Amino acid sequence: MDGLRVLVGLLRRLRALILRSEVRVVGQCNICGFCCQGILLRDRGRWLKSERAFRKLCEREPDHGCFEITGRDEEGYLVFRCTLQGEDHFCTCYEDRLPLCRTYPSKSLYYQGRDLRSACGFSFKATTFRDIIMRRRRRAIPEFNEVLRQELNKPGNR
Ligand code: SF4
Ligand code: SF4
Repeated sequence: MDGLRVLVGLLRRLRALILRSEVRVVGQCNICGFCCQGILLRDRGRWLKSERAFRKLCEREPDHGCFEITGRDEEGYLVFRCTLQGEDHFCTCYEDRLPLCRTYPSKSLYYQGRDLRSACGFSFKATTFRDIIMRRRRRAIPEFNEVLRQELNKPGNR
């Protein structure tokens, strides 16, 4: 599964390069609070799998001490929740929240083969090969009004 995710991420990156079209983050936050629970954390490009790695991250970046391990996902990565989330699901330190919270959801998630939860008000919008083909087809088909205008302007049709 991990390998599949890497492959999906690589293919997304490759497609963005070929089509010269960067993924866009669209939508808006509906304040559901889900991104403060069930979190995976990364340190220097690697998702955390061991408590030791998490401790090292906290030593270097003490802000991460607000996260608490709640388990592991099906791929063995550590899953965290943030202890700064209030019972009402709102962030209790919104003005001072971590950079990773400020930039969520980042495009890098998309290029790592990850997707957002369905409850999230944001989504990733990428241009696909199909979009490009459809765009070219639309350009190739003359507008009906234009064809009609040309036909009406022909001498015999006036
Ligand atoms: S710091 Fe605030 S926004 Fe960031 S994970 Fe914790 S509760 Fe959520
Ligand atoms: S999961 Fe998405 S919609 Fe919900 S709080 Fe986080 S960013 Fe906002």
